[in-house]
Amino acid sequence: MKVEVVQNVLKLNDEVAAINRKRLRDAGVFTIDVMGAPGCGKTALIEATLQLLSNDLRVGVLVGDLATQRDADRLARYSDHVVQINTGKGCHLEAHHILQGLSRINIDRLDVLLIENVGNLICPVGFDLGQDLKVGMFCTTGGDDKAAKHPYIVCESHLLLLGKMDLLQYVPFDLNLFRTDIRRLNPDVNVIELSSATGAGMDTWIRWIHDQRNQRLKRPLDTKGEVVS
Ligand code: MG
Ligand code: ZN
Repeated sequence: MKVEVVQNVLKLNDEVAAINRKRLRDAGVFTIDVMGAPGCGKTALIEATLQLLSNDLRVGVLVGDLATQRDADRLARYSDHVVQINTGKGCHLEAHHILQGLSRINIDRLDVLLIENVGNLICPVGFDLGQDLKVGMFCTTGGDDKAAKHPYIVCESHLLLLGKMDLLQYVPFDLNLFRTDIRRLNPDVNVIELSSATGAGMDTWIRWIHDQRNQRLKRPLDTKGEVVS
């Protein structure tokens, strides 16, 4: 019985995600779901990204947190299209949160939508939001064991980021071990090592967004709203 309930919840989530995906596709919006632990630097990354992308592309943000509007206040300095989603006791975003968020921004005015998921390395991975791609973020101050301990996010992400590279020299973080763990779990995934504080590696991340957007928007959707690969 319990399993059946969980399956129904996920099935409903997937149906709403397909609605989101179709809406975003119809509006020509390329959407990225950024996932990572609390404090790994997701909001700082998006702040820097907004500044670097805003000359070329119109970027909106849906930002999820259990409580407060603090991240939206930070991000609103760089975009007029920012919506905070408070999940209360919810430890991840679900497709219906995004559906509600989309009703509060004009997606026809956007080229890119960044979703900052609730700080959590575990369940955000399992919930389709209607995004084009999922990005998993780690950081040097979070410890070099986090990839090995969270194989699901390593395997399911289209791209991995290692943030706070400017702090690498101050913390006990074995970069080779981290890289080896990722290669073992997901040999094909791209990893960008960057720092939103110094800007190191940010050019690679920005280029990745441009390239992926150009590729993805050319690909058709099937009747369920899924990308035909
Ligand atoms: Mg944040
Ligand atoms: Zn959760």
